[in-house]
Amino acid sequence: MTEYDVAVVGSGPVGSTLARYISDQGFKVVILEKKRNVGVPLQCAGLLGKRIKEVNILPPEFIMNEVYGAYLHSPSETVLKVSKKHPEAYVIDRVAYDKFLSDQAVDSGAELLLNHRVENVNIDTGEVQVRNGEKISAEVVVGADGYNSLVSKLFNGPSDNYEAVQYLMGVKDGIEADYVHLKVESKISPGFWWIIPISDNLVRVGMFSPLPYLTASTHLERYIQDNPLLKNASYLKKYHGCIPIYNPKQQIVKNRTILLGDAASQVKPTTGGGLTLGFLCAKLASEVMVQALEEENMEILQKYQVLYRKEFGRELKTQRMVHRTFKSLTDADLDFMFFKLKEEGAEDLISEYGDMDTQSPLVKEMLRRGIIFSILPQMLSRRISSLWK
Ligand SMILES: Cc1cc2nc3c(=O)[nH]c(=O)nc-3n(C[C@H](O)[C@H](O)[C@H](O)COP(=O)(O)OP(=O)(O)OC[C@H]3O[C@@H](n4cnc5c(N)ncnc54)[C@H](O)[C@@H]3O)c2cc1C
Repeated sequence: MTEYDVAVVGSGPVGSTLARYISDQGFKVVILEKKRNVGVPLQCAGLLGKRIKEVNILPPEFIMNEVYGAYLHSPSETVLKVSKKHPEAYVIDRVAYDKFLSDQAVDSGAELLLNHRVENVNIDTGEVQVRNGEKISAEVVVGADGYNSLVSKLFNGPSDNYEAVQYLMGVKDGIEADYVHLKVESKISPGFWWIIPISDNLVRVGMFSPLPYLTASTHLERYIQDNPLLKNASYLKKYHGCIPIYNPKQQIVKNRTILLGDAASQVKPTTGGGLTLGFLCAKLASEVMVQALEEENMEILQKYQVLYRKEFGRELKTQRMVHRTFKSLTDADLDFMFFKLKEEGAEDLISEYGDMDTQSPLVKEMLRRGIIFSILPQMLSRRISSLWK
């Protein structure tokens, strides 16, 4: 049985990034990936907040478009426009970027074994069983195996996910490429529809929701058919994926095993975006793991769970509250809210305080200025206050 310091299950972007960090410190790392090729099929809208450049390498060749803001649509089409002077987000080539991150890990010394589906992990001994019959042993095993993580199931039980559907579409008539469009409606809440331009003739149009895949697909078709921006648009490709539902109770360390990225439900509860948080957690986990390996004391791994809660717990809690608030709103509530926000001049406020990755500064500012409760009818304010307790 081959022995390693670290075995990473899954060569998604987050697992590859962690593998690179650990290999860079001189440890023996193996990445076990069930697929034949890294990064395919695409399961992402590829929209990353500008902060991404601070948290991971992102060479310019992977950036397909820069986005300056968003049009936020209510069910009856009250539209809020929020914008920044500088690019707020990047639209990336996810398939190529995943491959790049995996190559970087290999260049740092990690061994990548494709076509290696992990079937079982002994969380006490670090023994990993691969479907092809191979066995691998590691001091630390990392479950970076995405939504429905096999590794997480071993000590957390099954995880909950949202269905996500997306089309790549050609837009003959052109579209404003600097802005994304997001639309909410109670039927698909707490999910939403998106149009993410790659250029002024090519867009990713998708949605996530708690609905089953076929129902979600029907809602996406309806959105496309009814949308004047997508008149005469052509369907080029269809994608399907899942977004984990953030679970604050999930255990992310157990004996010699840790969870990371989607496997640890490390996604923004409001949007389902997982890359920035996943990369930040990869850094955190790698620091703890290096210390545990150097001191040959696996008890130290527990620090990862503690530091994770300390660093991200509050922001994730705020976003979860925003998410639950949205889930409780009817179409009439949403329309009223958008209308009042527009009336109160909140577009400027959202433009100033809104941030793709952290929503708590905006929420705090809206609370401070008394906007949140002034935009809601009294009954609704009471309902929402109870959610926020
Ligand atoms: C439609 C859609 C749109 C999205 N849009 C965005 C967005 O715009 N911005 C954003 O930040 N995030 C977005 N996300 C989320 C983002 O794609 C994920 O958060 C991200 O891929 C998580 O990376 P990961 O490395 O944790 O997991 P994954 O990318 O899921 O990688 C897991 C890897 O593990 C492998 N694997 C699984 N099981 C095993 C096994 N048993 N043995 C071996 N290998 C295994 C898989 O093959 C895969 O390669 C979107 C998701 C979807 C579905």
